[in-house]
Amino acid sequence: MMSLPVPNSITSRLPSFAEARRVVEGYAATLSPTPPELLSLLDAAGLVLAEDLRADRDFPPFPRSTRDGFAVRAADVFSVPARLRCIGEIKAGVSVEDSAILVAAGECAEIMTGGPVPRGADAVVMVEYTERSGDAIAVRRAVAAGENIVAQGAEAQRGATMVARGTRVNHAIVAVAAAVGRAEVAAHQAPRVAILATGDELVDINLPPGPSEIRNSNSYSLAAQVQASGGEPIILPVARDQPDELAVLLRKGLESDLLLITGGVSMGKYDLVEQVLASFEPNIFFTGARIQPGKPVVFGEVKFGEARKPFFGLPGNPVSTMVTFQLFARPVLEALSGAQPLPLPFAQATLKSDFVTGTGLTRFLPARLEGAQEQPVVERVRWQGSGDLMAVARANCYVVVPPDRERFSAGETVTILMI
Ligand code: AMP
Ligand code: MG
Repeated sequence: MMSLPVPNSITSRLPSFAEARRVVEGYAATLSPTPPELLSLLDAAGLVLAEDLRADRDFPPFPRSTRDGFAVRAADVFSVPARLRCIGEIKAGVSVEDSAILVAAGECAEIMTGGPVPRGADAVVMVEYTERSGDAIAVRRAVAAGENIVAQGAEAQRGATMVARGTRVNHAIVAVAAAVGRAEVAAHQAPRVAILATGDELVDINLPPGPSEIRNSNSYSLAAQVQASGGEPIILPVARDQPDELAVLLRKGLESDLLLITGGVSMGKYDLVEQVLASFEPNIFFTGARIQPGKPVVFGEVKFGEARKPFFGLPGNPVSTMVTFQLFARPVLEALSGAQPLPLPFAQATLKSDFVTGTGLTRFLPARLEGAQEQPVVERVRWQGSGDLMAVARANCYVVVPPDRERFSAGETVTILMI
């Protein structure tokens, strides 16, 4: 849990977290999204709209009652109690135009939530404020004109854009598409994201690890993050720490829309990724950021003619891989998906316990947000550093520590990043 101060000479050339994030966002803004395809509505869920969803009619298509009660003329119930005669009932699905119901002075009509307000009426009195005896309705509370009614077209006028292209299709967008009668929508194809784990110590999850071997968890955590971000993960075989093998697999990975490499980007003798990538003559945008975990993160692109293939070299420590994916790779994946840029999900919470940390880096410390709605409280989870994947399994957020802060006290408000 102890973190040493980082010597300035090493880190000062590296961009800060905010600078590195801006580099990624700026780059993402220049990318073209994957081509659109017409998909059935539920197949488009999780992908990004390649077209605007427009209102095919007014929403609501008729003045809609928001309450169960009685449709009235507001002027009739100006002074209460008022006695009205109920002339009928508005059933869901009955056209108001066609129905014989016309509310005249001294009259009302029974109506249900969501029902079309009949001609003549201009307000709805909630059933709770009425008493009924046969056709005679006593109204105990006045209503203003328009009360408990959503006017025709108030949510969207016919032809208006209800959801803009570039929006990821979630359940609410599915609801809008269904409401405007779109059984099929145009969505951008899921970007293909190649995932390449590197390291002689790694074995795949279906093989028994030797005494000094580690199971390859990063390819799978990354694949899950890619999937959750609307990408199609393609897990490549693990690359040994051997330049020729690495070069072959890097070339394979660069066939996808985005390449994520994990491991081999630190300063160790067998950290070969940058060296082998150099043979592809990449543009390198950064080779690290003043963050922890994830300091050695690499971001660049390789050009094949017109095609630009972005790649990230994510540090191999499991927590570093997860954090740097979220901070840096995700915006690139979003842009390739056709999505409008999204801010990171930062929030504020009250810190539960004191802690001390080093300065010089923006830190993302695994933590759990708990507590009631009125007072969210965040507590760091126990962790042994960037290799401790259990810590993130216990966490639901990170406490974000700015580079100039060292001491934190219980009760103070801190920034968190939701996972
Ligand atoms: P590296 O970035 O290659 O120096 O690796 C840093 C640490 O992360 C080492 O302890 C590796 O064993 C571990 N590591 C690297 N790649 C993976 C992986 N794919 N899955 C799990 N642990 C990994
Ligand atoms: Mg390694």
